[in-house]
Amino acid sequence: MEKAILSKSTFIKGEQCLKALYLYKNNYSLRDKMPADRVAVFNRGSRVGELAQTLFPNGINCKIGGPRQYSKAIEKTKECIQFKEKALYEAAFLANNTLIYLDILTYENEKWHAYEVKSSAKISDTYLLDAALQYYIIKKSGLKIADFHLIFIDEEYIRGEEIAVNQLFKMQDVTDQIKLMQENISQKISLQLSTLEDKKAPEISIGPHCKKPYDCDFQGFCWKGVDKSIFEIPALDFENQCQLFELKESNQLKIKFPNEIAKKQYHYQTLKKDYFDASFVQRIINQESSIIILNLLTYRPAIPWYKETKPYQTIAYAYLWSEVTLNGKIVENRFYISNNQYNPSNDIVKKLESELRDKQIFSFFEDEYLHEFYQGLNIIDFKRELIDGHIIGHNLKDYSFDGFIQAFSGKSPWYKGIMADKQAGLKYEKEFIENRNIESIQDMISDYLQDKNKYFVKTVINILKTNSND
Ligand code: SF4
Repeated sequence: MEKAILSKSTFIKGEQCLKALYLYKNNYSLRDKMPADRVAVFNRGSRVGELAQTLFPNGINCKIGGPRQYSKAIEKTKECIQFKEKALYEAAFLANNTLIYLDILTYENEKWHAYEVKSSAKISDTYLLDAALQYYIIKKSGLKIADFHLIFIDEEYIRGEEIAVNQLFKMQDVTDQIKLMQENISQKISLQLSTLEDKKAPEISIGPHCKKPYDCDFQGFCWKGVDKSIFEIPALDFENQCQLFELKESNQLKIKFPNEIAKKQYHYQTLKKDYFDASFVQRIINQESSIIILNLLTYRPAIPWYKETKPYQTIAYAYLWSEVTLNGKIVENRFYISNNQYNPSNDIVKKLESELRDKQIFSFFEDEYLHEFYQGLNIIDFKRELIDGHIIGHNLKDYSFDGFIQAFSGKSPWYKGIMADKQAGLKYEKEFIENRNIESIQDMISDYLQDKNKYFVKTVINILKTNSND
């Protein structure tokens, strides 16, 4: 059996950047550590895949043995095809040194039909490329398929008592589109394989491909020594940052910024000064003797776990608020985590409204939709203030919570266990929603919120002090 050198994911990596493919295959240890929130997204994908399989029930799983034992999976697939089994999951095919696992293969009306599942709500060019590769490899390995479909999530679906799987997912026949891409696929595979035979990595400069379509794992390596100042202007998108970076590198000193906030961010970055505009200062001066620091956790499950919710709807499920004196002393802490079987967001709105009405609350809403929920509360959301340019931190690199803490307290947060909201959401989804076990995670999530809170309190008090001295 020929050797599997490429796979779906390495092929997509190679299409993004041949250097990334080369490093991945030959210098794996140079990879960046995978951020906790990206691990969460991978896990979400496999859960959606399993649910989509139920559209074609009682299928045979062909993925047997470990990743190196792909020959077993290929043999199993061949056997199932020979017996014309009605549904196969993870059917394995190998051709041109490229191994693919197709999510679902069915046999109906004496024809084979291919399905690839995506946990997203939209079909992207990358998904089409991925489908085109699979179609090519399946055909090359000798199986004729009648059509190829992408299965993805219908964002408009509203869950009833139970999940209606055939309404949650949409299907699109992409056969005609991917047939047009076939010639290119064989050339692309050849180019990737020949690159891998080279003695050293191809010389490829940094650019928009470092984050598109995915964040490359080798940025720590390739970006070492690069002047990142332009890339630390959060009001610019990455493509704009790359364009301006090139202008700067070519010594075109007059950089034209596409928006006023980016221009200001660059200005204060150069001055090495923070900026708080008058409207912000007006809202934060003359505080009562204590303020509230609120950390709220939300998640956006691809699968709508609660009645009357949609896929990817923002669900609030836990919070910690602290009442803090203006010199930073915590007077009271209150933690809540929902163990409701129904959407906890509404309960959380009601609880916070009854506990915190008329208080001045400072928060950092990772999710912009949250504003719709908390209109009855007096909240200053630092993320909104940063995005609107009311606050500019000369050290602010992005609009994340950690970035905010780092910029305004000078310290990078360090977490004992859970390290990101997305990771917390994943744990909640897995332990409580799937296994109905709140005890196993509530301490972990409480610790995470305590960790966040510690940094948040310090940073907010710093900002209040800075502005009251002005
Ligand atoms: S960081 Fe950019 S240049 Fe380096 S391997 Fe990744 S995509 Fe290629």
